[in-house]
Amino acid sequence: MSALASAGLVAACFQPDYASARAAFLAAAARAQARTDVFVHDEVKGPGGSTLTTDVAVLGPDDADSAVLIVSGTHGPEGFAGSAAQIALLDTLARQSAPLTTRIVLVHAINPYGFAHITRTTENNVDLNRNFIDWEAGPPDNPLYAELHPTLNPKVWSEQALDEANAAREAWMEKHGHTVFVDVITKGQYTHTDGIHYGGTQREWSNRTLETIIDRHLSGVKRIALIDWHTGLGERGEPFFLCFNEPGSAGWERACQWWGRDQVETQGGFDGAARPNYVGLLFHGVQNYARHAQVTGAVIEFGTKNTEDMRRALQIDQYLKSGNPVSAEQHAAMQEELLDAFAPLSLEWKRSVLGHAIVIQEQTLAGLANWT
Ligand SMILES: [Zn+2]
Repeated sequence: MSALASAGLVAACFQPDYASARAAFLAAAARAQARTDVFVHDEVKGPGGSTLTTDVAVLGPDDADSAVLIVSGTHGPEGFAGSAAQIALLDTLARQSAPLTTRIVLVHAINPYGFAHITRTTENNVDLNRNFIDWEAGPPDNPLYAELHPTLNPKVWSEQALDEANAAREAWMEKHGHTVFVDVITKGQYTHTDGIHYGGTQREWSNRTLETIIDRHLSGVKRIALIDWHTGLGERGEPFFLCFNEPGSAGWERACQWWGRDQVETQGGFDGAARPNYVGLLFHGVQNYARHAQVTGAVIEFGTKNTEDMRRALQIDQYLKSGNPVSAEQHAAMQEELLDAFAPLSLEWKRSVLGHAIVIQEQTLAGLANWT
């Protein structure tokens, strides 16, 4: 469907760490003459005490009715791919002479702690993509999660402990069925602070920052096309769409027109299980903070590894933050495996991802231009 990006473009857009990605994004924003807005994280630091920021590049007219909002780094290191896609778009815009008719808002590293420290979560072990619930109403229940928690978060990292956890999880899945299993472990939980897909106890810094970004840069628009770039789900190197408009609604149909019905209405991605009943997504946050606008959008993933390898990567992510014992050598190996699951170093993977992302961003801008 899409051309592979050249190795040169990959080298220009993909960066090896958060600080380099941030610098490359800001440099590309300057080349495109974008306005920038920098949000310094005042609660935590990056590696070596460095400053963490979410950076925003804004282009296009102030009185635009329509805007595209592209977000990277919701899940920390998944942001390497999203950042590369944003940088490629800025460099395309820098070369264009025709004035923009829509606004373009690029949010770089909405979860800068996770991006810089190579963890999917925020500084509070919160899955930001489960944190956008209605906190006044309180968190939703996920009572069955407690039974699976120990099998997803082993306290000892040994072959025997992992085998036991896997066997217990398999037995649970046999009993409850695959779809229930996928739903319980994926949709979000608000009870286990050291667990996976933990939604937190309040709005995270990144959540509040997104609201400010929308207030400042999207308050006047009537239509928002949203892309939230992710990695880790779907076929390796290929895009996988999770549209969160109501199936069959005008927004859903629009997404099908922009990106292709086959892509949006795919049944894949969960090894045959139904799609989980996700709660608290960034998509919901955008809908909530931009009530004046219609939102059409999706989480767009790029596949990296198979389901078992991804589950192991999530286990590693939790284990490395748990304070459980690990040697320096083991820590380095585990972190490398984690990074490889969310931001593979493979040039072929990057060429495919960037090629697809450039096409999808173009499709989105073209779709937005025709959305009236
Ligand atoms: Zn993700």
